[in-house]
Amino acid sequence: MAMLIAVNKCLGSGWPPGGAVGSSYIKNMNNDKLTFEQHVQSECLCLLGYFAAQSGRAKRSDLISELANATFAGKTPDEKNRKNWWTRKFGNIAFVWNANGLAGATVHGYRMPVATGKGLSGQPGVQKRIKDNALRYFLEDLPKCVLLAQQFIDPGVRMNPKIQEALFGVVAGPGSIALSPQEQEDVDLAKKASPEGAKKLVKHYQRERDAGLSRDAKAAFAKANGGKLFCQACGVEPLKVYGVEVIEAHHRIPLSRSEEGRVTEISDLIMLCPSCHRAVHRIPDCDFEILKSRVKR
Ligand SMILES: [Zn+2]
Ligand SMILES: [Zn+2]
Repeated sequence: MAMLIAVNKCLGSGWPPGGAVGSSYIKNMNNDKLTFEQHVQSECLCLLGYFAAQSGRAKRSDLISELANATFAGKTPDEKNRKNWWTRKFGNIAFVWNANGLAGATVHGYRMPVATGKGLSGQPGVQKRIKDNALRYFLEDLPKCVLLAQQFIDPGVRMNPKIQEALFGVVAGPGSIALSPQEQEDVDLAKKASPEGAKKLVKHYQRERDAGLSRDAKAAFAKANGGKLFCQACGVEPLKVYGVEVIEAHHRIPLSRSEEGRVTEISDLIMLCPSCHRAVHRIPDCDFEILKSRVKR
């Protein structure tokens, strides 16, 4: 409890941006009225809104209008001021987003557009908190991010279903698919060695499940190799052998070097046949170099 208060205090400066928008609303949203949790909730909500806009699932202006309707309605600030507040938050998120290399990356299965603007700068306190809290949930624990964001919506509000789906439906989107029984078996095995290792393995699978990224990696590999997809460990070209394409993209970065919050790039993925792919996940660290040294051609 003492620690939470300390954190809350140190977040006091620079939040929310003072003066520029309706001051009565600012007062209500200020640290005196908003708890630390509520700040994180609002940032999670804004991140999901920004993501919904960037992934083209809803218009930014519609999202902002809906958020202005669904949060702090009936309090002192009028709708115009609430809109201004959310507009400003979206601008801050854009800055944090771009600063963390998410523009142009594939995020939760959606390819993000390359940024044209940088968003608002000069609010380092705000940006640091977004980065430290909401962004971490958004990238690494999406269901929790959604849960926190939903807690910032006024109780009893009936949101526009399309906007609601754009904001919160993402948990069931392409970036979050349940593990297959085989994968679950790998995770259980890893758990015996270390719970932390099992956690990293789940994250590893999630990175590989990014359908858009995996598709792009295969296309790039084929383009660089005369249109062919072959296993980079054993050399098999499944299409030639079986008449069907079964090559899979494997996340190459060993678990021990896989950083939290790091965005997966095409160059992180290599092509493996299903057998080699199964095998590499049974090798400590999922280390491709070890697998490659073992495969006899
Ligand atoms: Zn192979
Ligand atoms: Zn893999």
